[in-house]
Amino acid sequence: MTARIVTRATDIPPDWVLVLDEIDEGISECSFQIGAAEVGIEDGQLRFDAPIDVSMTIGHTLQTFTLKGKVHGELLGDCGRCLAPTTASFDTKFRLFIQRKEAGPEELEAIEDEDEILVVDPGVREVTLVDALRDAVALDMPLRIHCREDCKGLCGQCGADLNHGACDCAENEVDPRWAALSQLKQGT
Ligand SMILES: [Zn+2]
Ligand SMILES: [Zn+2]
Repeated sequence: MTARIVTRATDIPPDWVLVLDEIDEGISECSFQIGAAEVGIEDGQLRFDAPIDVSMTIGHTLQTFTLKGKVHGELLGDCGRCLAPTTASFDTKFRLFIQRKEAGPEELEAIEDEDEILVVDPGVREVTLVDALRDAVALDMPLRIHCREDCKGLCGQCGADLNHGACDCAENEVDPRWAALSQLKQGT
């Protein structure tokens, strides 16, 4: 009989879970990667090509943690004009201020207006960054990406990719007013 080995991977928190007691006082830096699925980014049009890079600075006093983070990723999707497969670099920032309930007034002065504030009970040991990351990414997610800034797109009539040259539609298109006039002429 073989004994089943149970790996207890859950004992080790992933990189995006902040273990509060392990953070040094003062300023520290850390960086990690997180998959778009972990962040919970679901977008039908655009997706992240590879794990998202996160780097952040953590300022820690007795009961407060001030996080300033940068997020970078590569988006993959169709060009919004010509539909060609396209990649675009994606960058955003996030800020989070975590405060244990007993934080003193001097510590609270460090909060800046734009900080997202999270108050945790003194007993809380871990804080996940997923929510802050998801909010930051969702807020800055572009609606569409373009293969190049001056992409000419597709012809609305024949569907030709105008980046490869003009189609005949524009030339053949006759202003309806002129068409009426030429009909009149023909009638006489
Ligand atoms: Zn394009
Ligand atoms: Zn055309």
